[in-house]
Amino acid sequence: MKSTTRAVVIGGGIAGCSTLYHLTQEGWSDVVLVERDELTSGTTWHSAAQVTNFGMNQTMVGLKSHSIALYKDLRDDPDYPVGYNHGDGGIRLTNTEVQMDGYRHFASMARGMGVDYEVIDAAECQRRNPLISTDNLLGGLWDGEDGHIDPAQLCAALTRRARKAGAEVYRKTDVTGLTQHKDHSWTVHTNQGDIDCEIVVNAGGYRVNEIAAMMGVQHPVASMEHQYFLTEEIPAIKDAGHRIPLLRCPISDYYCRQEKNGLLIGFYEQDCKTWGMDGISPDFTMDLCPDDLDRVTDVLEGAIARMPVLAETGIHTIVNGPITYTIDGAPLVGPIPGKRNAFCIIGLRAGLGEGGGHGWLLAQQIVHGEAQYDTWCIDPRRFTGHTNVELTALKAIEDYQNEFRFHFPHEHRPAGRPAKTTPLTPVLAAEGAEFTVVNGWERVDYIKPRPDFHPTLSFNFDEAFDIVGAEVKNVQENVGLCEVNGFNRFEITGADRHIFLDRMFCGNVTKRDGRVGLGYMLNDHGMVKGEATIANLPEGDRGPARVWFGSAAAAEFHDMDWLTQHVRDHEDVEIKSLTNDQTILVLAGPNARKVLSACARGDWSKQAFPWLSVRECFIGFSPATVLGVSFSGELAYEIHVPNASLYAVYLTLRAAGEAYGMKLFGARAVDSMRMEKGFLHWKADLLTEFDPYETALERFVKLDKEADFIGKEALRKRHAEGPRSKLVSLRIDATHAPAHGGASLMQGNAVVGTITSGDWGYRVGMNLAYAFVEPTLAKEGSTMELDLCGDRVPATIITPSPYDPSYELMRS
Ligand SMILES: Cc1cc2nc3c(=O)[nH]c(=O)nc-3n(C[C@H](O)[C@H](O)[C@H](O)COP(=O)(O)OP(=O)(O)OC[C@H]3O[C@@H](n4cnc5c(N)ncnc54)[C@H](O)[C@@H]3O)c2cc1C
Repeated sequence: MKSTTRAVVIGGGIAGCSTLYHLTQEGWSDVVLVERDELTSGTTWHSAAQVTNFGMNQTMVGLKSHSIALYKDLRDDPDYPVGYNHGDGGIRLTNTEVQMDGYRHFASMARGMGVDYEVIDAAECQRRNPLISTDNLLGGLWDGEDGHIDPAQLCAALTRRARKAGAEVYRKTDVTGLTQHKDHSWTVHTNQGDIDCEIVVNAGGYRVNEIAAMMGVQHPVASMEHQYFLTEEIPAIKDAGHRIPLLRCPISDYYCRQEKNGLLIGFYEQDCKTWGMDGISPDFTMDLCPDDLDRVTDVLEGAIARMPVLAETGIHTIVNGPITYTIDGAPLVGPIPGKRNAFCIIGLRAGLGEGGGHGWLLAQQIVHGEAQYDTWCIDPRRFTGHTNVELTALKAIEDYQNEFRFHFPHEHRPAGRPAKTTPLTPVLAAEGAEFTVVNGWERVDYIKPRPDFHPTLSFNFDEAFDIVGAEVKNVQENVGLCEVNGFNRFEITGADRHIFLDRMFCGNVTKRDGRVGLGYMLNDHGMVKGEATIANLPEGDRGPARVWFGSAAAAEFHDMDWLTQHVRDHEDVEIKSLTNDQTILVLAGPNARKVLSACARGDWSKQAFPWLSVRECFIGFSPATVLGVSFSGELAYEIHVPNASLYAVYLTLRAAGEAYGMKLFGARAVDSMRMEKGFLHWKADLLTEFDPYETALERFVKLDKEADFIGKEALRKRHAEGPRSKLVSLRIDATHAPAHGGASLMQGNAVVGTITSGDWGYRVGMNLAYAFVEPTLAKEGSTMELDLCGDRVPATIITPSPYDPSYELMRS
């Protein structure tokens, strides 16, 4: 066994084998995989191993397409062909029109990735899968690439190819400890000896948290028991003359595929069970949980109703094994938060289908620092401090019970809520707030007209449309108050803070005391990494001169890692998170200054406190920090308040606001207003797949600035080559539904763009969207068609800020 290597991958299931193989493909040959028992001895060996191309966003579709292409290549390898039934086709069924809308949206989205799904009616579902009944069935989504693979052969083939490229695989090698050194390298301790390495990868399956504990972290991953059974031979399958397409059924929560001349049927029962919460026996390997078919009778009845042939078919094998879940159903693939040189590929609940793609994107991140797709939807840093195995178990149960029922726009399911709140949460609830969830924070979405107001889940504008419109109107005409909790805020102190920030941001960094600026961070490839507000707080009795770095709520771990990893040893820079200690109250509207002046001493005039200023003050008697910034496009102030005095400040503002028509507003109104201004959202519109020129951020780039900012040379090169895509604002000629992120823009049969955000603009009376489109089309007046849940609707490129294009109001 080697005693030094570049990377050690821990775990020989599909996750580890795929990572090892792809590391060699990305150019690293000195890599090792260690497995405590035999390859596939965790969950992988007994997987149903279905491989679908279905995904709910473009990254998932892209990585699954990679799996399929790779598996086909392995199937066709003349030396070691892997058993892979590709192209049996699969149907996701439904009996509701709103789910059909969802399927139509996913078809629109996948087309942009070169993948064709078909939305078919009930009769066509039955024509393709003659075993099903059309009772209580509306139709389904057809994925022609669906199939299944032999898991053991797949892992053997991947490691075989990796070995050929120089990698080594050590079986019966149990990792027992991990030590990180000052230079961030690692020693991996095993029962066979130690291995020194630069990078470690946790691919430990359901033992993820045993390995995590060795590096002092805990991942939000929990395991569920999951069962399928194999039937005896079914004559109708034997005689069909073709393979039977797969089924996934959200009506009665089961899936099914052909296995030899019978069926494999898997269940997602309501009476489901977590597994391994109190530890896992070291002897549990190549093992299964006890059968428990009684638990699945609820869903079994539904499966029999859908496939009557099951009623007269015997069962010959039952498989019940542990399967891992995270908080939102997607795995954790990428850097481990708070750690250097440590990555994970864990929480895979569909690891056979996705594993090829996840290993690919992880290897790209390890070797190149970033993958070719934006990987935020699988990034381990997308959950922050509130997440633990207890919370994950609650979400895992909820997710398991809803396995094939995707989330609708604005849907936030109840399990594990509330997780993060402020002293105002119950106060706002009493005011009638409907809450949305942002990185665990309960944030006001809008104020409900009555307690039992529950809009229907839909891809169309819902019943809250006019309520949000009224909130926007009051902000536009009077003044609104909105709590923005969880907004990420770091305090950066030290003499070198601006030198450091100059290196982190691609534009000019505001340095003057009392002034605020907006900036963009790039990665080493010159692509958009992050967005932050920089506020320079002067020295005073609350502290030394310092910077407040403000970014999206979900960016907390991501930005902290990115910043701390770039502070140089000799630099006088300290970064402290205030995210959980302070909350923002946004005051927005033409009367905002009057309200602020009524409750805070000092001169708040345009001259004394112009747009992009910051000042420490008291709201009533409570300390606060006010920033003159606006996300709504109206005159607005962000009032940052320590949570201890949040309620006091709220009461003071409400009392002062009474004379000026103040009303509460929520996140939906904010989202609508920001779209009228051309303001972007991190990870909706700001993606690592595009550079700042492509993202229409040229005014924030200073290629000629003195500081050698991260990504400068790469950006210069990219800029010289010209954009591959351009972010634009669009008017959508439809009044019934917004454009949904991921949907395709078409000219004829060609996809010419992809939507990133969409919402109604109440102040301009337009249905608005942002999209990346082909550069030749990126000019005002260009027309195309949006595939909006299967309907083609006209879309026209418009000015980026249709409301108050000269930005007068926010500077007023
Ligand atoms: C019943 C069932 C049906 C399924 N059906 C499908 C399906 O149809 N399609 C699909 O895509 N997915 C399916 N899945 C899920 C899929 O099987 C898993 O997502 C996948 O196998 C997980 O692979 P993994 O590599 O992450 O974990 P594992 O296969 O569990 O591999 C982890 C490995 O790490 C090793 N290890 C752990 N700790 C250490 C240590 N300290 N030192 C060294 N090695 C260690 C373990 O021994 C193990 O081999 C199913 C799962 C179940 C349970």
